[in-house]
Amino acid sequence: MLIFRFLLFSLVTSFGIVAVRADAVAPQTGEKPKPAATAEPGITFDWVHVDGPYVAMTFDDGPSAKLTPKLLDLLAAHHIKATFFLIGQNVAENPDIVAREVREGHEIANHSWSHPNLAKMSDDRVRDQLHKTEDAIRSASGNRPTLLRPPYGSITARQKKWINQEFGYKIVLWDVDPLDWRRPGSNVVCNRIIKMARAGSIILAHDIHPGTIEAMPCVLSQLEAKGFKFVTVSELIAMHTPLPPKPSPSPKSIPPKSTSPSPTPHN
Ligand SMILES: [Zn+2]
Repeated sequence: MLIFRFLLFSLVTSFGIVAVRADAVAPQTGEKPKPAATAEPGITFDWVHVDGPYVAMTFDDGPSAKLTPKLLDLLAAHHIKATFFLIGQNVAENPDIVAREVREGHEIANHSWSHPNLAKMSDDRVRDQLHKTEDAIRSASGNRPTLLRPPYGSITARQKKWINQEFGYKIVLWDVDPLDWRRPGSNVVCNRIIKMARAGSIILAHDIHPGTIEAMPCVLSQLEAKGFKFVTVSELIAMHTPLPPKPSPSPKSIPPKSTSPSPTPHN
């Protein structure tokens, strides 16, 4: 019995230590590490800490002549504003759809000209990808984008910095990814999004896959039923509220005050 108690005590103690340690080093043990996040505060967003049930739906790789208009009809029926990360080549082919996106209150943003891996490219080639897309978006809609989503989420810390300085772009990633590009079927896409969405989520989807568009009536109505409200990414970022004091990704250690689990921001 004594031995049992001792074992129990040791177990509890070691769990306690593990819990404290895990808390202190949360950025390494929790979500995927983003080592560059602390270097550029306010530049990169994959989730936003907000007061209220706000989420941003984002659609990448369009516009698609066939599918995007269907999605726009659906968003209009739900009075939902979304954010479209556009590929420059597709903007040049479908300028009328981009103009409609803007006219209907959606945000449009830069997703490169031809969807390369920016992290592996020279600054000049990256600059060319972003400039051409920005020009195509401006001539289609009159609007200048203020956000960039790098294809595959692939971008270096150094690139984030100079792109932000040169183009004024914020870098937008995501925290909800239903992997819809693998075309798992509309039910799976819907279930994954509903399961993962939380206040402040930036939800990734692609308006070039039929299954994604088919999933949207389910996604939108179920998120609405859960009380979520939809805003554009720039609106979500503008709603940002500071987190209560918690161990941050910065190297200086702050004693843990709250034990309630709270997500770590990566901005
Ligand atoms: Zn993409």
